[in-house]
Formats: sequence, structure tokens, C-alpha cells
Amino acid sequence: MLLGACIWILSLAQARTASHGVQPAGLFSRNYIRLADWAHANNFELHWLKQDETVQLGNHSARLVFEVDSRAAELNGTSIKLCYPLIMRNGSPCLAQLDADATLKPLLYPSRNRAGAKVRTIVLDPGHGGRDPGNMDGSHQEKKYALLLAQELADQLKRAGFNVSLTRTTDTLIDLPDRPDIARRRGADLFISLHWNSVASGRSTLKGAQTYCLTPAGAPSSNADAGVSGGGSHPGNRLNDKNILLAYDIQTAMRKDLAVEDLGVRRARFWVLREAVMPAVLIEGGYMSHPSESKRIYDPAYRKQMAHAILEGIQAYKSQVERVR
Ligand SMILES: [Zn+2]
Repeated sequence: MLLGACIWILSLAQARTASHGVQPAGLFSRNYIRLADWAHANNFELHWLKQDETVQLGNHSARLVFEVDSRAAELNGTSIKLCYPLIMRNGSPCLAQLDADATLKPLLYPSRNRAGAKVRTIVLDPGHGGRDPGNMDGSHQEKKYALLLAQELADQLKRAGFNVSLTRTTDTLIDLPDRPDIARRRGADLFISLHWNSVASGRSTLKGAQTYCLTPAGAPSSNADAGVSGGGSHPGNRLNDKNILLAYDIQTAMRKDLAVEDLGVRRARFWVLREAVMPAVLIEGGYMSHPSESKRIYDPAYRKQMAHAILEGIQAYKSQVERVR
């Protein structure tokens, strides 16, 4: 590849200080590559949708959109948070090498499972339980609606031929480390944790669905300040490529099937994702703190639609990773 010659070592601290107004913790630098070089090497045409602000890469099968000085990106209409912002350098948009390798490549060129490795056994993990109610909206508790969504999704997955079980089927608290361990002991091919979101307190206009996968080692998580790095390697990092593909497929199905705000594929170091030894995601299906989205969350008909979207995302993933023979 031609990219080697075009790599610059940039100080991310310098790049981000102006727009954030804060000095990121610690000194670190990142490899950035020119987006035009990456586009050329991967058969994409580059053009600006808005000069020096929004850039698009397109070819016969995919369309990528990036915002300058932002981690917001889009692949075929689905929002993705990059690990590092796209930046301008000498008049050219530049992409972090890590995002080329760990965000775009596994989505554009999915790697198949080893021969014979099927996606068959799925462990669903309804968040919280027992003395941990999760988010609260008046008398409504997240733990209850997480379990109801998991039960609905389990029914639909079983009807579609999957072997499904839950980390909890009653209102009990399971310690976080035990959840991915249950999935490991049951030989799960996928681990899917289900949650409902909320702002810290009160009502908010923030709404939408988002799907998390584990942050690559050393990179900042999506909801942390962009300047903060850190976080070592965890067992789940061995499955980075499959994690983001599963997250993307589920997020895409939710975006298409449900009239829901697309808050995108994001990275986090949630315990259940760090310790999972199979592809794992955590879905935040919507905000209990939003006046109308909360009503949908409490509605069995809407949860049925959401479960169906998640099922479709899992089926899309399965068809991408399983070998035909
Ligand atoms: Zn939760």
C-alpha cells in the first residue's frame, strides 16, 4: 500500500486544544493518514459536500461521510463515532490510522468466522436487577423494561432458530463480572446486553438508540472527552473487528426499522464488554428521560418492534461472518 509514505505523526493535543478549549490529559501522539490516500487505496471517490467541513467518500457499494474536527461519521446512513476526530492538515482531511484499521476496515471488509463456526447460541443480558433498578422514571425502573425486552427478543430469536438464554430471568441482581462469564460457560457465540438510557436527572429532549462495542486498546471511549486516552487491552479486545460489525449491523437495523434517532455505534469499556470472550455489544434502546420516547419503551408493541430490529441485525451479522461451507 502507498499509505506508509503519507503517515504523519501529529500531536492530537495540538489538534484538539483549539476547539475543545481544554488541554487533554497527558502527551500522546497519533498516526494520521491523508483521507485521499486511503480513499484511493480502497477505491473510493472523495468529494466535499461542504468545503472543508463535510467530506464524502463513495463507491458502488458504500458511502462514508465525515465531519472535520469531529468524531462523527456515517457509513451507508448509519452513524458511527470514530475513535479520533477527522482533522485538516496542510489543507487535506486526515483520518486516524486506528480508525482506518479498527473502525472502517472491519465494517467494509468483514472477516469470516473460521470454517464451521456458526452464530447459533446467544446469551442476552438484561441490565441491572434486584436492588439495582438502573435508570428511574417515576415508578418505572430500567431493570423491568430491560428484562421485558430480553424476553421478547429471546422469543423471536428462538422462533428464528437460535439457541437463546438470559443471564437473568427474574428480578435478581447478577454481578457484572458474572454476566459475560455466564455467556462463556454456556458456549455463547454472541453476548448482547440490553439497557434503557436516561440523562442524569429530570426530563430531557435527548432521545434515540445507540449500540456500544468495546473501545480499542489505548483509544478514548465515545462518551469521554476526545483528548482523554488510556485503557489497556482486555479479553474482549481480541474480538474488536467482530464487536464493531455486530454493533453496526444492529444499529443499522434499528435505524431502518424503527422511527428512532440514530445515536450511532459507539465505544465504551463497560465491564460486560471488556470481559466477554465472544462478540459482544450493549444496546441502549432509548431514553426513559424523554417524554415521548419513554412511553414507547413502556409499550409492549414497541418493544416487539425493537426486538425484531435487533433480530434482523443479528441475522445480517450472521450472514456476513458465517462461511457458506
Ligand atoms: Zn442500564
